[in-house]
Amino acid sequence: MNGSFRVGSLFGIPFYVNTSWFIVLALVTLNYGGQLGATFPELGGTAATLLGLVSALLLFSSVLAHELGHSFVAMSQGIEVKSISLFLFGGLASFDRESKTPSQAFWVAIAGPLVSLGIFLGLRLILNSASTLSPVTAILSLLASINLVLALFNLIPGLPLDGGNVLKAIVWKITGDPYKGVVFAGRVGQVMGWLAIGLGLIPILLGGVPQLWTILIGWFLLQNAGRAAQSAKIERTLSNRTAADVVSPNSPIVRQDLTLREFANQHVIGNSREWKRFLVVDGDKKLVGAIAVDDTRAVATSDWVKTTVAELTKPLSLETIAANTSLLEALQTMERLAQSELPVADENGAIVGLFEKNTALEILREEREPDRKREPEPEPTLTKAE
Ligand SMILES: [Zn+2]
Repeated sequence: MNGSFRVGSLFGIPFYVNTSWFIVLALVTLNYGGQLGATFPELGGTAATLLGLVSALLLFSSVLAHELGHSFVAMSQGIEVKSISLFLFGGLASFDRESKTPSQAFWVAIAGPLVSLGIFLGLRLILNSASTLSPVTAILSLLASINLVLALFNLIPGLPLDGGNVLKAIVWKITGDPYKGVVFAGRVGQVMGWLAIGLGLIPILLGGVPQLWTILIGWFLLQNAGRAAQSAKIERTLSNRTAADVVSPNSPIVRQDLTLREFANQHVIGNSREWKRFLVVDGDKKLVGAIAVDDTRAVATSDWVKTTVAELTKPLSLETIAANTSLLEALQTMERLAQSELPVADENGAIVGLFEKNTALEILREEREPDRKREPEPEPTLTKAE
């Protein structure tokens, strides 16, 4: 997150604080300090402000406890917690992967609100046995209500809130499809966002002041709910399509027994794309090497009918991608091998086409922006393949 810096570790989890958090800390300190000073005038200004700071720090400890609740359950499922951050809107724990089953996802999501609810109940028990009103009981009672609000607000059933994740897990359980869960909970999150914005604006109709905080929360929900649904859609595209689905329709592949004349006429001249190099295959479509179009210039054109592609073929040590590999895995392989193109082979080792990273990314971009026009085809770059 922008403007965040690390302040240490909590149970081995890197702990970050966003600069926006200090603004909230200052505001909360002044606000609570003021309230305490007004209720207990005998405290004096300095002590009241100090107690305000203590309350504010306890408030954020409550947020941290909530995030640790999510984190501990995630860790018990073997999920790595990458970080816990405090920022303007509260806290955020980020994990390296999602839960594997809907019930595991449910428990990770519900753990935070359960911790907040537990703190609320614990504090209420202590307060019920305390007889007199003092600054300490005032702070504890404030803390109790904050934890209750933390639990209830986070249980609003729209992504990205915990309630949204609970809803996602339930829809996932019912439909068996985690993406349906995300999309549904994302939509509900968007509805909640609009609802909050509407509620925040209502006072204007009644001649009052709009509730900025409610509007801000609505906007936050709207932004993040849309993003959650979007990334689920992309993930689904990546895992539902295979490498074979996205090979270039006009892949640069040539049979080794063709003459250079046939190669030039059938593959190079009039090709919509200027391939610099073609993959060469044998009669079984197995990869034997590559031919560079430039190398054909070394042979006199009059000899092209007598020379075969095989004679100019150079060996090529390229990994191939299995045709049934998911788009996600194929892109990860490209990344690992630092390649922008790799041949795709079926289960018999026959080359079915060339997988281009750019084509795959283009498909993803279209998924994200359905109305967007296709970009001109990128320049072929099968040059560093050797
Ligand atoms: Zn939470």
